[in-house]
Amino acid sequence: MSTVFFLQREPRRREDAPRPDKRDEPGTGVGRVLVCAECLHAVTSTSARIQMSGGHSHTFANPHGFLFHVACFAVAPGCDVVTEASTDFSWFTGYAWQVAVCRGCGTHLGWRFRSADSQFHALIVDRLAETDGSGS
Ligand SMILES: [Zn+2]
Repeated sequence: MSTVFFLQREPRRREDAPRPDKRDEPGTGVGRVLVCAECLHAVTSTSARIQMSGGHSHTFANPHGFLFHVACFAVAPGCDVVTEASTDFSWFTGYAWQVAVCRGCGTHLGWRFRSADSQFHALIVDRLAETDGSGS
């Protein structure tokens, strides 16, 4: 007579649960939501990414020597502009800029650039956080 121990050591078999695919699907126009890193207010989405002056993201210095790593978006509904348009030291030739802040908490998120016939937002990359947009 012997005692048999069944050690439940078998590797736990994780069924790889099918996960919804969160990659950007070109053409779906949805993308992932980019939120304010401070308050998580929705600011824009990855599908609004555009290229300006040959790239989506740029590093610029302002006249005070602060460096900003910004990314360009066609729209940023979660931003409010809080200054008059200015062309002083504009990073994008032909565009006037306005300071853009989070509608949720007022954090400075970047700038809106506007020319006679177009506009876009250049937002400071590390003031945004990416979420998956499945909730909305
Ligand atoms: Zn905010």
